[in-house]
Amino acid sequence: MHCHILEIEFSFNGEKNVLYPVVLQTDQQLVLVDCGYAGFLPLLEKAYLKYQLALDQLTGIIITHHDIDHMGALAELKKNVPSLQIYSSAIEAPFISGKQKSLRLIQAEQMLESIPEEYKTGALQFIELLKGMQTVAVDQFLAFDREVDWLKGIEVIHTPGHMPGHISLYIPQNKTLIAADALAIENGRLEIANPQFTLDLDEALRSVKKLKQLEIDQLICYHGGSMQKDITGQLEQLLMRYTQIATKPA
Ligand SMILES: [Zn+2]
Repeated sequence: MHCHILEIEFSFNGEKNVLYPVVLQTDQQLVLVDCGYAGFLPLLEKAYLKYQLALDQLTGIIITHHDIDHMGALAELKKNVPSLQIYSSAIEAPFISGKQKSLRLIQAEQMLESIPEEYKTGALQFIELLKGMQTVAVDQFLAFDREVDWLKGIEVIHTPGHMPGHISLYIPQNKTLIAADALAIENGRLEIANPQFTLDLDEALRSVKKLKQLEIDQLICYHGGSMQKDITGQLEQLLMRYTQIATKPA
């Protein structure tokens, strides 16, 4: 099992940003984990070349959850590679396929009423972006907390909080965790990804505790890239910061 980290650089509202999807490679499978925003195919293609891979060799894609930066390019990708198999948890699948309304869209619409006037234009743009997100049918569900039978060496870990069906992937063989948005790396420090948009923060913290049980030599976050040093210590510090916030007198 090879695990290649892609580095996708792009500009959003004039600001430079980087996302880190992953490619899992075995003798039989070439599986992308998350795919970026709509219009990202050329960027994916370019990042892929670094590993002498081509997008049309992909056999499958795992979508960790239905956020637009993780599945925005899914419809284009499926159009380009029609044989591509799409995988997600059973909880996320109805949102990815559009059978249920995006939880992020529901959240954004609810928040619109309470946010200050100066942020409203940006929030409305975000809502329009979410409404325009193309949905795609999921071919197969990934069961929680066990090895994937068609992708030996990969374990699916249910890490709810950011979204209810969010998954992370663990490769026991080289002690690598693909955290997706269960964690983020910001300025060299582990954080909860966008805590203000986390649908259930307590649940997200329980997921971090669950991940702390794993032996991790390499941690890969969709936002922030990879980390190799003192991961257990970093996870402990993160949990401690949130315990302090929770117990702080009002
Ligand atoms: Zn997300």
